[in-house]
Amino acid sequence: MAEHAMAMVDALRGDTGSQQLVYRDQALHIESVCVDRIVTAVPTPFYCYSSDAIRTAYRTLSGALKPVGASVCFAVKANGNLSVLGLLAGLGSGMDIVSGGELERALAARVPASKIIFSGVGKKRSEIARALEVGIHQINVESEAELDAVGDVAGALGVRAPVALRVNPDVDARTHAKISTGKKEDKFGIPFEDIPALYTKAFAAPELDPVGLAVHIGSQILDLSPYRAAYSRIADLVSLLRSQGLRISRLDLGGGIGIPYDHGASPDVGEYATIIRETVGGLDCELTVEPGRWLVGPAGILVTEVLFIKETADRLTAIVDAGMNDLMRPAMYGAVHPVFPLMQDCQGKSHIYQIAGPVCESSDVFGTYRDLPALRSGDRLAFGCAGAYGASMASTYNARDLAAEVLVDRDRFRVIRRRQTIEALLALEDETEWQVSPIPSAGDLAHAF
Ligand SMILES: *Cc1c(COP(=O)(O)O)cnc(C)c1O
Repeated sequence: MAEHAMAMVDALRGDTGSQQLVYRDQALHIESVCVDRIVTAVPTPFYCYSSDAIRTAYRTLSGALKPVGASVCFAVKANGNLSVLGLLAGLGSGMDIVSGGELERALAARVPASKIIFSGVGKKRSEIARALEVGIHQINVESEAELDAVGDVAGALGVRAPVALRVNPDVDARTHAKISTGKKEDKFGIPFEDIPALYTKAFAAPELDPVGLAVHIGSQILDLSPYRAAYSRIADLVSLLRSQGLRISRLDLGGGIGIPYDHGASPDVGEYATIIRETVGGLDCELTVEPGRWLVGPAGILVTEVLFIKETADRLTAIVDAGMNDLMRPAMYGAVHPVFPLMQDCQGKSHIYQIAGPVCESSDVFGTYRDLPALRSGDRLAFGCAGAYGASMASTYNARDLAAEVLVDRDRFRVIRRRQTIEALLALEDETEWQVSPIPSAGDLAHAF
């Protein structure tokens, strides 16, 4: 809903909608740090996050969920920076990962393996083995083939794998098609009706320890009613499986709570907790939620500089030095991020600008914004709500180096990821020097795979 490409967005010049992002003396501050001051030390574009915003979000959510006994596992894919993970881990958060690389990130941030859940539709055997070796809390399995693979790997290692089956509840999350995961046509999860047979199979396998069920219906969910529908279906399944003598002790309720990119209202987490209590609260299961975006999205901005103002017959375009490789969401989902000038110009008239990046793709456009001050080359802007799926989705397309990341805490700031150098990017590549390889025999080919 909020992800629809909007023709125009109000640039929110006064009220940023955030306690941590504020104008003081007409200069944009993140907590007590003037963003323009960071620009003197860190070249644009860069991401900047507020520690306080992340802490406050975590405490608000975990506080709301405490009465229902649900714990929080942060979805690392939203923002995997080690300092961000460390900050959340320090508050008590577990982690939800979707790859072996994210497992290493979480472990490097000193998250105990006993607080890590491994989700995702395609895990390699090497990733499953590593997860079992470090003593992962739970592997969420998404198909019978994957269940067999986890069993094989666990058997070879001589361990029992704690597994949950991810249910596809066939519920419409009413979000953008590219981030819906709980309808039966989506690639995720195991069809509802296949769960009893698979759970029974897992129960019979000595190398598998089926601990429960998982569900994740999508992302950027602003209307909470699909959660009620999905969790009610999970509750029905728990009763059904228990009636067959199967044990279920854990429910992983997924992530997906949305944030108001366009300054609307955020879903009420108290209401979310109520839905959890009313649907699965009485089942005597350990409950976990896996939010990503809600915890870190509003905490981050992407700071960029205006390179040129391009004037054509029908519009003004501000070409900025951040592009779709830095922040992919507008090009990928038609998302619109609010924009804030670093310096407020009170005299400025209302101007309409299209803001576009430098990447050679027509989709490298952030949107058309009105109510902006007159912009000039060298002016700086911040895209808001960029703390989730920003830096973590960035690429080096157009041989653009990955942007730096900065963390603010009260009056201090620190670069928590240096800008990648172009030398480091080139260092991975070898100029072709053909090796002379022998012509393979039929026998070699048979063993090639
Ligand atoms: C992406 C994902 C999440 C987090 O989604 P958000 O919308 O960022 O809260 C949680 N669980 C799983 C399995 C995911 O794939």
